Amino acid sequence: MAYKTVNPFTNKEVKSFTSLTEQEVAAKIDQADACYKEWRKTDFATRRAVMKKAATIMRENKAKFAGLVTLEMGKLISDAEGEVDLTADIFDYYADNAEEFLAPETLKPKDGRKAYVEHDSIGIILCVEPWNFPYYQLVRVAATNLMAGNVVMVKHASIVPQCAEAFEQLLLDAGAPKGAYTNLFVDSKHIAGIIQDRRIRGVAVTGSEKAGASVASEAGKALKKSTMELGGSDAFIVLEDADLDKACEWGLWGRMNNTGQCCVAAKRFIVVESVADKLLKQMTECFSKLKAGDPMDRNTTLGPLSSEAAAQEIAELTETAIKHGAKAVVGGKRPDMPGAFMEATILTNITKENPVFYKEFFGPVAMFFTVPDEKAAIELANDSEFGLGGTVFSKDVERAKKVASQIDTGMVFINRPTWTSPDLPFGGVKHSGYGRELSKEGILEFVNRKLIYIEN
Ligand code: NAP
Repeated sequence: MAYKTVNPFTNKEVKSFTSLTEQEVAAKIDQADACYKEWRKTDFATRRAVMKKAATIMRENKAKFAGLVTLEMGKLISDAEGEVDLTADIFDYYADNAEEFLAPETLKPKDGRKAYVEHDSIGIILCVEPWNFPYYQLVRVAATNLMAGNVVMVKHASIVPQCAEAFEQLLLDAGAPKGAYTNLFVDSKHIAGIIQDRRIRGVAVTGSEKAGASVASEAGKALKKSTMELGGSDAFIVLEDADLDKACEWGLWGRMNNTGQCCVAAKRFIVVESVADKLLKQMTECFSKLKAGDPMDRNTTLGPLSSEAAAQEIAELTETAIKHGAKAVVGGKRPDMPGAFMEATILTNITKENPVFYKEFFGPVAMFFTVPDEKAAIELANDSEFGLGGTVFSKDVERAKKVASQIDTGMVFINRPTWTSPDLPFGGVKHSGYGRELSKEGILEFVNRKLIYIEN
């Protein structure tokens, strides 16, 4: 897809960008490789200084960075500011902790000799990233790899080119050498060719199942390590002993944050029948109060989707659901206004035969299921191709922990929707992918855990 900024609030094109030619891509790989040969030798203090400076620049220029996010993909401005803060926090986190995470690990071999594992850099990591958190997705791969001594080349989503350029410039302004972080304006069909280059040593993808499967197979063919952070259809389980006010408040946030375009959004509400009607009524009231409008306006509570295509897609999926027996208790269609909007929607009566049952609703549409009891809730939660996050609401935390242990996902949060923090591992199982980003685990994905053994 061509790189361009189209404001989803107006659907008007703002700016377009030229994609790189094959020769230009080759020159950028040469530059990244030359940079790697020097960057790998730098000490932690040098790398730390770049991360710290990047965090400072982001915080000092929050309005500029956040404004680009809102312009290009329609995130509410206050949420875009939150994303800038989170991104800066991740830079700080790895600046402060990478040296400890990558310290050599002493082993105790049975033969009494000395041995240890050191964590060496490996080279250029190619990253393919989505538009839904235009900086946060980038820092997850940039801060980890740069602190580990790798360099990164990033193909960002084609609808957020100004964010992509701003992030590359940020690292240059923070003192990273040219080639440490390279933005690549390339069409996704060229990714396979880039993966073949022997200097590319790892591949990280965040995006849809389809993109993940395609890139993972190319990485596999070339025998390159990959991590896949893919889609999700997280369950939000509410047991009969839950605090319903809290469940409603968090449910609204869990589904509507980022206009529903989070991989870990609460997409399937699974509620025990004794409290289902009450919660549905509460949630319906909350959803119907959301006010669609300009995402730059701080009074707006429902922004546009990231693009007209995304709005059409979720509206069509909702229509399909309704055609096959689902009921929209609130919303259900696109509002009568310009821009990439979709009504805040709750769908009930979704049977397993409905073609949307296993789909990911990437927008402001909640599926609401009523189940007889805890056992049925767990069964339904696990009846998904995805396995990213999930939520259990119960006032009895010990009970919620037992339920959480039975949910087949990479993350489960108790009494709040799944979310992210620099120090918590993030990732999924099944079609939600493999590998982890953030925390200590994230920085260990693309390092050589090299054994050194000493005979005497
Ligand atoms: P997408 O279409 O897969 O796009 C993501 C990135 O992959 C973009 O840079 C896109 O480029 C590129 N891409 C698409 N097809 C490709 C291919 N065949 N080969 C190489 N690159 C390709 O995903 P999206 O719809 O924009 O993003 C939403 C999805 O990402 C959802 O499923 C969501 O759940 C998931 N997600 C997961 C996580 C996580 O951490 N698990 C986080 C955020 C989002 P173009 O823009 O040029 O098409």
